[in-house]
Amino acid sequence: MLIDGKEISKLVYKDIVNEINVITKKIQRPPSLNIILIGDNPSSLTYVNNKLKKCKEIGISGNLIKKPKNIDEQSVISIINELNQDEKVDGIILQLPIPNHLNERILIEKISPLKDVDGLTATNIGLLSIGKPRFIPATAYGIMEILKNENIISEGKNIVVIGRSNIVGKPMVALLSGKDENATVTVCHSKTINLKQHTLNADVIIVAVGKPNILDGSMIKEGAIVIDVGINRIENKENSKGFSIVGDVDFNSILKKASSITPVPGGVGPMTIAMLMKNVCEAAKLNI
Ligand code: NAP
Repeated sequence: MLIDGKEISKLVYKDIVNEINVITKKIQRPPSLNIILIGDNPSSLTYVNNKLKKCKEIGISGNLIKKPKNIDEQSVISIINELNQDEKVDGIILQLPIPNHLNERILIEKISPLKDVDGLTATNIGLLSIGKPRFIPATAYGIMEILKNENIISEGKNIVVIGRSNIVGKPMVALLSGKDENATVTVCHSKTINLKQHTLNADVIIVAVGKPNILDGSMIKEGAIVIDVGINRIENKENSKGFSIVGDVDFNSILKKASSITPVPGGVGPMTIAMLMKNVCEAAKLNI
């Protein structure tokens, strides 16, 4: 069975739109999201435009602060400080990746944890890891919403998370292994020896690697649930754009064995933006 992330995201938006109306009345302005984009990375530009488009659609005030790739660290810190102090700013995102001469950790830590809607500051990561999340990183949050919507109970399940990034793998592990979810979680990464040995034992597999075909049907058990987070651009001369977007798993062979799978596109992707919007609402509610 295919899990339709777009449909699930529509349910989330229905709730959010109602919430935005209430918040807007209470704080006398719409919730606001401010995105700092440094440089001209085309994928980042697409992601940012998608976020801003969604903001407009649902009544969030979206603002893009675009800076050239040679901007120095102090200037970025000044921008973040100004946003931190601006009472009309609810959410701040530093769009990643940033150019190599800038220190990602230093800059993220400058964002007020109360406005860190990506959930990437040490404070917010810490809150998540003690089971008291303030802002859950949107992709992990979206996956949790998918599991909830599909009535997939984590408790007692063996769940394998492939990938341990701060934005997907680690928050997934924190959420699933916590006392609300009670799954038995195995984390795999690039140094894992014999990935198949772990995935064959899994009831649910969450794949966030960024490499096509990292998981195929021979590596999962019959009836497993597969959540494919990957977004990979592969050459495809038959497509007018010259490329196709695929996930991290070999979709056809997995589909034959899995009980459910999220497609790419149309699975986790739409949920990520939806849950980011939810986080912006949560940030705005801190002003009430
Ligand atoms: P990342 O920061 O590059 O992390 C990739 C992880 O995969 C790392 O932990 C790495 O291990 C692990 N890995 C690499 N090769 C592996 C292998 N052969 N076997 C097992 N593990 C391996 O990536 P990310 O930011 O988490 O993103 C992962 C993918 O999800 C990308 O395609 C990204 O575009 C996509 N993504 C999608 C959404 C969405 O909304 N759908 C959101 C975010 C990301 P090490 O730690 O050992 O290096």
